[in-house]
Amino acid sequence: MLYLDHNATAPMRPHAIDHVLGAAERGGNPSSLHGRGQAARRELDLAKDAVRDLVGAANARVLLTSGGTEADHLAVRGIARAARRDRGADVVLLSDLEHPAVREAAAVLTAEGFRPRTVRVGADGRVDLEVFPSAAELRKTALVAVMLANNETGILQPVAEIAAVAREAGVAVHVDAVQAAGKVAIDFDALGVDALALSAHKFGGPRGVGALVTRPDLPLEALWGGGGQEEGLRSGTPAVPLAAGMGAAAREALADLRSGHGQTLRDRLEAALLRLEGAFGVGTTSPRLPNTSALGFEGVGAIDLVAEADRRGLCLGAGAACHAGETRVSTVLAAMGLGAPRALEVVRLSVGWNTTEADVDAAIGILTDAVSALRAAA
Ligand code: PLP
Repeated sequence: MLYLDHNATAPMRPHAIDHVLGAAERGGNPSSLHGRGQAARRELDLAKDAVRDLVGAANARVLLTSGGTEADHLAVRGIARAARRDRGADVVLLSDLEHPAVREAAAVLTAEGFRPRTVRVGADGRVDLEVFPSAAELRKTALVAVMLANNETGILQPVAEIAAVAREAGVAVHVDAVQAAGKVAIDFDALGVDALALSAHKFGGPRGVGALVTRPDLPLEALWGGGGQEEGLRSGTPAVPLAAGMGAAAREALADLRSGHGQTLRDRLEAALLRLEGAFGVGTTSPRLPNTSALGFEGVGAIDLVAEADRRGLCLGAGAACHAGETRVSTVLAAMGLGAPRALEVVRLSVGWNTTEADVDAAIGILTDAVSALRAAA
């Protein structure tokens, strides 16, 4: 089976699997004072160092979470509640294309009386800085949340520019870097953000573990209480084996970033597919992740193409989601102004650490045949 859906989840790196198994066999609770507990503490600390290195955050606080969704919730809800407590700010500002994890966290806040506000993206899929509020207009804002790279298109957002305005207003910025981490170089300090979410399974670590990286003194309220682990901000015995796997994957992903491997393959794949009749790209001229390609083929529904490619041995993602038998335009594509029928034809191809040139060439063949077969059957 050919797998070009790394943005959904990447296959685990063998080295990460070894680390998970090793830590699971060794056992130990990092809160225990005995040797085994302290060895687990060191494993956890090493994993956090690898996370800091991956995102250029040498001095940051790293809180272990169950993945990107929890990291986003902890940041959005935890920062906004602390900001309302400390300075009475009650506006939560999101970009139009945030992942549901961030949107749902903001919805919880809205139910608590916070005022939601969204800032739109342009046709290029990037937050429109022309309409982004000025520092003076951000005065009542508790939090700004903007993703670093979009999961469907790979388009990179102008996070540093947004963070500069927010900093002037004294407003914290949370960046969802779940898709970006391990795919592009990230410099937390240079971005000037206050919090950053990542998830191990997007860069070859285990599913079910991630981290919230924050500046060390960021005011943050915990989502729940308990044993007081992770500086009292995320109670619960840390998943050391999963953290060890995440650390191993982070170290390898950082080394891979220097190779340019993903971009060469993505460009080869995209160039060949865009030569097919009626093919179109989404966001291909915007700054974007080097591994992601969002493409469509006129007259070929994305859901049908994903199913046909699957039958022929290729896994890829669809921009359109199917809910209860009804196909809906993705909110991300809609925010970019792409409506039906084109938006319902967009598929996502994402390469990763174990993708080869032979995989890409085989995928081009499969998709060429699948598109012709579906058009012939229409
Ligand atoms: N944020 C973005 C941009 C994502 O793409 C995803 C997962 O697809 C998440 C958050 C959620 O991450 P997780 O699956 O680790 O909960």
